[in-house]
Amino acid sequence: MLETRNLFKVYKPKKGVPVKAIDGISLKFPEKGMVFLLGKSGSGKSTLLNLLGGLDKYDSGEIIIKGVSSKDFKQKHFDSYRNTYVGFIFQEYNILEDFTVGANIALAIELQGRKASDEEINKILKDVDLDGYGNRKPNELSGGQKQRVAIARALVKNPEIIMADEPTGALDSTTGKQIFDTLKKLSAEKLVIVVSHDREFSEQYADRIIELADGHVISDVEYENTGKDSSFAEPLHFDGDIIEIDMGYHLTEEDRLAINKYMDELNSGMQFRIKEKKTTKRFVNTDQSKIKSYNGSDFKLIRSVLPMKNAIKIGASGLKYKKFRLVMTILLSCISFGLFGLADTFGSYNHIKTCTKSLMDSEVNSISLVKSTKMGSGINEWWDSYGNTMSEAELKEVEDYTGISMIGVNNPLNFDFGLGYNYDGEVELSKTDYQIYARNLSGFAEINEEKLKELNCTLVAGKLPDGSKDEIAISTYVWETFKIAGYKKAENSESEIMKNTIDTDYEKISEYSDMVGKTILLGNKEYTVTGVIDTNFNLDRYKPLLEEKDHLETSEELLQYALYNEFTYEADYSLAKAAMVGDGFIDRINEAYPEVLRLDNSYLWFGNDKLDISPYIMAEFDNINPELVHWLDGERTSLKKNEIILAADTILWRDSNNSYEQPADDELDNVFAETGRTVESQGFWWDSDGKDHSVYDSYEIVGVIPVSSENIGYSGIVVTADEQLLNFGEKREKYMYVVGAMPTEKSEIEKLVSYSYNQEGNKRYEIQNAVTYELDTINVLLKAVSKVFFYIGIGFAVFASILFANFIGTSISHKKQEIGILRAIGSRSNDVFRIFLSESCIIAAINFVISSIGVFVICTIINTLIRERMGILVTVLNFGPRQVLLLMGVSLLVAFIGSFIPVKKIASKKPIEAIRGR
Ligand code: ADP
Ligand code: MG
Repeated sequence: MLETRNLFKVYKPKKGVPVKAIDGISLKFPEKGMVFLLGKSGSGKSTLLNLLGGLDKYDSGEIIIKGVSSKDFKQKHFDSYRNTYVGFIFQEYNILEDFTVGANIALAIELQGRKASDEEINKILKDVDLDGYGNRKPNELSGGQKQRVAIARALVKNPEIIMADEPTGALDSTTGKQIFDTLKKLSAEKLVIVVSHDREFSEQYADRIIELADGHVISDVEYENTGKDSSFAEPLHFDGDIIEIDMGYHLTEEDRLAINKYMDELNSGMQFRIKEKKTTKRFVNTDQSKIKSYNGSDFKLIRSVLPMKNAIKIGASGLKYKKFRLVMTILLSCISFGLFGLADTFGSYNHIKTCTKSLMDSEVNSISLVKSTKMGSGINEWWDSYGNTMSEAELKEVEDYTGISMIGVNNPLNFDFGLGYNYDGEVELSKTDYQIYARNLSGFAEINEEKLKELNCTLVAGKLPDGSKDEIAISTYVWETFKIAGYKKAENSESEIMKNTIDTDYEKISEYSDMVGKTILLGNKEYTVTGVIDTNFNLDRYKPLLEEKDHLETSEELLQYALYNEFTYEADYSLAKAAMVGDGFIDRINEAYPEVLRLDNSYLWFGNDKLDISPYIMAEFDNINPELVHWLDGERTSLKKNEIILAADTILWRDSNNSYEQPADDELDNVFAETGRTVESQGFWWDSDGKDHSVYDSYEIVGVIPVSSENIGYSGIVVTADEQLLNFGEKREKYMYVVGAMPTEKSEIEKLVSYSYNQEGNKRYEIQNAVTYELDTINVLLKAVSKVFFYIGIGFAVFASILFANFIGTSISHKKQEIGILRAIGSRSNDVFRIFLSESCIIAAINFVISSIGVFVICTIINTLIRERMGILVTVLNFGPRQVLLLMGVSLLVAFIGSFIPVKKIASKKPIEAIRGR
């Protein structure tokens, strides 16, 4: 059945000398019978038994099981061997405290891949006299009962070998005898190997006694059954009228009943005799050659399978230790997973879809587009629309692509038209830092009845302007300014009538029609207002910006700031701020204006050590009125290259007090006599292809234009020779932005939005309105926050993994013995993995649930906040199946990583080390 050949085992303690625990033992065990390993403490009995049972590893030699050598066995083979062939019984019982008696037994069956039936368990409990104890917990049992549970557990697998290491060591002698009787009974069918240091018991029960000392076999004897033993097997012997009792034997309750019964049946008197127990069993040297040899043909291993429900049960029991640490682990993991979830939710925000939906929900009737050009390159790439203009051809391009007819907004001066000459500047339009009433117009937009209908705009007073006349229509939004600040004809017009109206009071405007027929001065030219048009501009939305508040929270301030930004986008690019004119107006009016270049998309400075000149508009000499120029070096009819004329208000000079001052017009000659007229230019600008140009050169100031209210248009100007202008910037195209009707179909809107956010090419046409402004802001924010969350999440995840490892490590140290027991009864290291993996999975599941709920709640809060505070009718964040899967993945991953190392360590331990809790 079982054989050892020249087995060696040396313990090499970390401190002290190595111990030869097994020093060359060769033994052959029979198929059945009770074999005792006898010897003094430390003689190597336990070591030998552990080696035989595959709980420990030998150093050399071999063990042969049913004719199969264990030479090539790996740990898993030993585990299966135990599972299949060996039932272990320990001195300390080693039953699982968390499991009931029945479950302890069932586990052993299930490890063999069989199903444990109640009948089977009850039967086995009956066999060990534990009838009805199936539902008890081990801590409710006595030592003897526990040991019988251990025996039952060993038996239930129906093993061919039972190994017991001092099974009665912790029991009183009566109970001990019962255990030995049980084992003796079993030895009729099985090989029972018992470790004992009690010679008397050994001789009483043994079929064979192998005596060890210092790791050697010093004697090996077997019982020679001659039938002449004088000693009875039973300590109580009935013989006629004599009842014989072994010396030193204590009567049990059963004995008492038996004696009473015997006496009842006996008619005569009787006597007790205490018999001196002397063993007269005869032992002779073992003849191992008689023991049957195997050829390995019926050797078969059953691999253990720890059922998942048991793995989970044992795993879950680990959660009761170190509650604080568990809570911390879960908390940190949840934060980390939550951050991942948020990062992903934020990251998967779909700008195009959200934008489309928002545009639909916000019921905007018109759509404004501006040209945007790609700047920079690589990761420093960005889209810039500031100061961009669109040509007639580009307007057509937009119309062709979107299928929407567009109105271009033109500004011949490329400069906002101030309205300030016509309303009362003394009236405070706003008491806060935010200005929401129109104080200027953006440009001219040609409209007609058909276009108004398309845009859902309505004429609320007067009539539409005629393009062949200097007529405009204003929006109800612009009208609001006059309603608040009154109206007066411009004072500084060259018009004759104007000169007499200086003292005129501001006229009160209360009806839309009050503005009809009035004239407005825009860029030095007067235009008659023929009508007022409602362009659907929602001024009320921005009115909260005008409310004075004593104290503002930072968050409120930020929201106000955001609202104001939204306002500027909405207003500056709308029809509301345009002077609406009739067809043909723009081409006609543009001829009347000189070509100028605005320098607001660039930086330009002239100066020397005494002059500091900052212009902001440029014009060609051809395009200005030469009569306005004060010539410093004699009158010219043209400018040479690198000669410039400056508006007087651009000039600062450093006087004798070392402070910079603007010279008065009559001082100019004297100033230049002192400062000289040669200046260096410093500047740069980007063209619409994103290319930059620098302007470093030397220039000569040959003239100055004094600026007064009469020629305010020349304020800030620098005039260059013809065609030199374009060294300083690009010629501006006709339109600043275009406005069209919002499509009604979702697909069309989506097409428009995609077009607006197209990343390819160097130019695109971006939607400019409140919705896109907000969503662009949200988009940028979400992208940034998503990245931040992602990295913080990784940091937390690493930390959580460490905590996990620590937690599982603690749990393992609490469960070492249980693992040892499981290993002893035949479970593989894989099963140990499953236990702790299930423990980790339980934690992971808790993490997953909490973090999912957390992310869901946070997303809902953010969505609600965005919706309520910003008024976007759309769900910005979508926490969906993808995020749920991600969270599950991350939870499991961290659980796996965190528990892998500690579990790997315990699982690869020798079972005997685990069982000893080392
Ligand atoms: P027994 O069971 O006969 O009392 P053991 O087999 O337990 O003896 O031990 C045999 C010898 O090996 C003893 O000297 C003991 O001190 C030593 N020994 C047992 N286990 C270890 C161990 N894990 N590390 C070091 N020495 C050990
Ligand atoms: Mg021992």
